[in-house]
Formats: sequence, C-alpha cells, structure tokens
Amino acid sequence: MANQSIRKYLGFCTLLLSSVLALPLQLHAQEAKELNLYSARHYQTDEALYSDFTKKTGIKINRIEADDNALAERLKSEGANSPADVILMVDAARLWRAQIDGFFKPIHSKYLESRIPANLRSKPDPEGSTWFGFSTRARLVVYNKAKVNPVDVDTYEKLAEPMNKGKVCTRSGAHPYMLSLIGAMIERRGEAATEEWAKGMVGNMARPPRGGDTDQIKAVASGECGVALTNSYYLVRLLRSTKPEDQAIVSKIGFVWPNQQTTGTHINIAGGGVAKNAPHLRAAIQFLEYLASDSAQEYFANGNNEWPAVKSVKIENEGLKMLGPFKAENISIAAIGKNQIAAQRLLDRVGYK
Ligand code: FE
Repeated sequence: MANQSIRKYLGFCTLLLSSVLALPLQLHAQEAKELNLYSARHYQTDEALYSDFTKKTGIKINRIEADDNALAERLKSEGANSPADVILMVDAARLWRAQIDGFFKPIHSKYLESRIPANLRSKPDPEGSTWFGFSTRARLVVYNKAKVNPVDVDTYEKLAEPMNKGKVCTRSGAHPYMLSLIGAMIERRGEAATEEWAKGMVGNMARPPRGGDTDQIKAVASGECGVALTNSYYLVRLLRSTKPEDQAIVSKIGFVWPNQQTTGTHINIAGGGVAKNAPHLRAAIQFLEYLASDSAQEYFANGNNEWPAVKSVKIENEGLKMLGPFKAENISIAAIGKNQIAAQRLLDRVGYK
C-alpha cells in the first residue's frame, strides 16, 4: 500500500515535471508559427513561393514589401525593436550595404553553405552578418530591329558612342540596377572613363530616364527608343507571354548579351538573410533554407525567370532556354557595393537623372 502511494506520488511528480518541461517547447512552437518578412522582391508570381512555405511548415508569413531603400530606412528607424525576421533584397549593392549597416544576423547553416556557391553569399565571418544570394539575373540590351543594327549595341560602352545618338533609353540612373551596373564599370574601367561613358549616355538619350525595365522594352518596341537596358527576367516574362500585345512587343525587338568579346554581361543577384534581432529565429533560418531547396529554386527559374543559385536545379523554362548561354562579368559584389556611392556622384555630375 505504502509502495503504491509512493509510486502514485512519483507518477504525479513526473507528470508535473514533464508538463513544466513541455511549456517552453509549446511556446516555441507557437512562436514559430509566424514569420515577419521584409521584402524588396516585387514579383506577383512570388505568391506561390510564400504560400508553398506556409503549406509545408504551417508558418504564416507576414509580409512588409517596399523597395530596397525604403526597407533600409525602416530597419534603421526600428533599430533593435525591429520585428523583422528575414530581409530579402533584389540587388547585390543593397545586400552589401545592408551587411555594412549590420541588418543581418550571423547564422550558420551547413545546408545553406552546401547549396549556395561561395561567390553568391557573404564571406563566412563569425562576427559579421550573413546573407545568401538565391537567384541571379543579367542586365542585357534590347533593341528595335527596324532601327538598330545589333553590332552597334553589343557592349555597354557602345551605347554611349555618337552612332547611338537619340536612341538610348534607361530607367533612372539612381535605381539600384543601374548603380550596380555603373559600380561594376567603375571597377573595370575606373571612375574617369565611366564618367565619360555616363556623359555619352546622357547625350544619346531618346527621352529622359523614366519608368521600369518593362517600360524600356515597350518603348523600344514602339520605336520611341532604339535601344535600352533591361534585367533578363523582364524580357523572358514577355518572351513566354501568350498575350497578343506582349507577342507584338516581342516581334519588334531583338536582344544581345553585352560585352561577350570582352568582360562579359553584368549580372546581379537577389537574396537575403536573417534580421539581426529576429524574434522568430528558427523560423527565419527555416525560411532561408526553404529558399535554397529544390522546389523554391525551381520556382525562381520557372516562376520568376531568374537563374537559380543552386547549380544542380533543373530549369524547365523555354524563355530562359531561348536566351541561351552567355559569358558573365566576374566582379566581386563587395566592389560593386562600395562603388555605388561614386557611381551616384558621377551621375549627378553629368546630369544623368
Ligand atoms: Fe526587378
């Protein structure tokens, strides 16, 4: 009888102890049911990327979407109280800047390190922050087939030459896509030569810079511009479209991979990292690992027409296949990042809006 009481008592204690132990775990499980994502990605098709993660993990994603600059400002003003768990950016220079500003938390993930090539992520630094590139895109030239001979526009440099006077269109020079391109050119050719180039570009404009990359492609098709610059996925989106108005655009334009005989076509990356004070740290790492998984990587290729960072991932995208292979520029992301301030300054000097 006494033995039975002791056993009951011990049983009760074990029960009590196990429920106390379970408490933090339950809290943790609850905590991990949501994730605050600060994203500069602006692609409608990304919806599938996020909903797939929620379906797989049960973790709800709260999204704050803004451009890279606005996100950076917001993170600065929120400081240590920021609810951000994951920060996604769409430009190498911005990722670099975010690292310098200390927005990312250093994390260690064998999975991410094995999946993402070393040149597409920040250098391992136990004290510094960490970011990973999840997809790449190229900045290429589109031209009006009736107005422009492709050999006259097959380098970034040629766009600034007198033969292209009155033909060139770009989006604002202050946009990250342009600042990274120009930052890379500063690295290749030096600041003085790049300023000369920018001056030539301003002199060759068909209209003042305005709109996004798709607007440049449309203006090339309409003949308002003879030649323009665009990120590859905007072109592929049109190439794959079955809408008659998009096919009409595609029928008027050609594209070239710039600088194939010399330094290669400028490429950029989209990527991100865990926010420095992430309240949902485990969910944040889980999300980044998801972005490097086969299914998410296939999404980048087949959903948003970007090249996956993970080399083994299969691309089933006729548009991307149509672009074919190309020689890519090989310039460090840190160099592109640090040159963006000089890039903006020289654009201001030559009046490149
Ligand atoms: Fe974009």
